[in-house]
Amino acid sequence: MLGSPSTSSADEPYAPVTRPRHIRELLAEGKPTFSFEFFPPKTPEGERKLWRVIRQLEALRPSFISVTYGAGGGTRDRTVAITEGVATDTTLLPVAHMTAVNHSVQELRHLIGRFADVGVSNLLALRGDPPGDPLGEWVKHPEGLEYADELVRLIKESGDFCVGVAAFPYKHPRSVDVDTDVKYFVRKCQAGADYAITQMFFDAEDYLRLRDRVAAKGCDVPIIPEIMPVTNMRTIERSEQLSGAPFPPALAAEFEKVSDDPEAVRQLGIDQATRLCERLLNEGAPGIHFITFNQSTATREIYQRVAGARVPA
Ligand code: FAD
Repeated sequence: MLGSPSTSSADEPYAPVTRPRHIRELLAEGKPTFSFEFFPPKTPEGERKLWRVIRQLEALRPSFISVTYGAGGGTRDRTVAITEGVATDTTLLPVAHMTAVNHSVQELRHLIGRFADVGVSNLLALRGDPPGDPLGEWVKHPEGLEYADELVRLIKESGDFCVGVAAFPYKHPRSVDVDTDVKYFVRKCQAGADYAITQMFFDAEDYLRLRDRVAAKGCDVPIIPEIMPVTNMRTIERSEQLSGAPFPPALAAEFEKVSDDPEAVRQLGIDQATRLCERLLNEGAPGIHFITFNQSTATREIYQRVAGARVPA
C-alpha cells in the first residue's frame, strides 16, 4: 500500500486511521517507497497551485512527500506552514528539509521545536548552500554549524525525530574526490541519520557505485535515489547547474535528436525516467523520490508506470 494510511475494516468501523510515523519504519517494511518533493512557492497563486498538485498526487498514496527549505529569505517559514498543512489536512506523511544556512544553533533548535509542534517529526538535515551562488564561499553563522553531521546530531538530541541526509552519486561539487565524499557521508550516518536521499542523477551506475562505496565502509543506511524527469531541453541545462554533475553525453544526444519537437522531448524524458526507476528498483534501491517542481503530470505518468507495475491497486 505504499505506506498510505491503513483503512478501517468492516469489523472495526471506528478504528483510527494510522500511518507510519517515521520514514525509517516505512523503509524497514522492505517494500519500495515512492515519494514526491515540492518547493515552497513565492506567490499566493503558486501556493494555490501547489495544493492542487498535492491533492492530485495524494490520490496516488505516496509513501511520503518532502518540502524543500529556501536557501535564505522569505520562503523558509513556508516550509513549516506547508508541512504543517500536509500533516493536519491530508493523509500524507510530510518530511521537512532544513538547512544550517544563516542560522545560529539557537535558531535551529527553535525551528526543530516548531516542526515538532506542528506534528512534523521527519526532517531532512542539510548544510545548505550559500544564498545566491551555491558554489560560493561557505560562511558559517558565527554561532551556527559547519557541516550537516552536526545538524543530524542536534536534531537527534532534540527529540524523537527520523532524520534523512543528502547523498551525492557523482560526489558533492565541493568534495575533492569520491573517497573523501563517502567518508563524510558515512560520518553523517554515524551521527544518527536514518536514511539518505540522493542528488538527482541520470545514470544508474553512478547510484550503484555510490551504494557500493558506502557498503564497503560498513554503512547500511538506505539510500533513496532522487529522480528528475527531463520534460524540456531547459531541464538538461538546469540539471547540470543544480546537481553539479554532467548530463550523460549519450543521453543528451538522444534528446538532441528530437529537440525541435517539445512533445517528443517530454515523452523521451518520461520513458528515460521510467527505465531508470525500473533499473534502480530491480537493483534493490529502497524507493524512488521524485522531484516534481510542483507539477503533477510527468511525475504521475512515471509513477503510474513504475509503481503501478509493482503495487496492486
Ligand atoms: P555536508 O554533508 O555538510 O557536505 C558538504 C561538503 O562538505 C561535502 O563536500 C562534504 O564531503 C564535506 N564535508 C562534510 N562533512 C565534513 C567534515 N566534517 N569535514 C570536512 N568536510 C566535510 N539545499 C537547500 O538549501 N534546501 C533544500 O531543501 C535542499 N534539499 C536537498 C535535498 C537533497 C535530496 C539533496 C541531495 C540536496 C539538497 N539541498 C538543499 C542541497 C544541499 O544543501 C547542498 O548540496 C549542500 O551543498 C550540501 O549539503 P549536505 O547536507 O550534503 O552537506
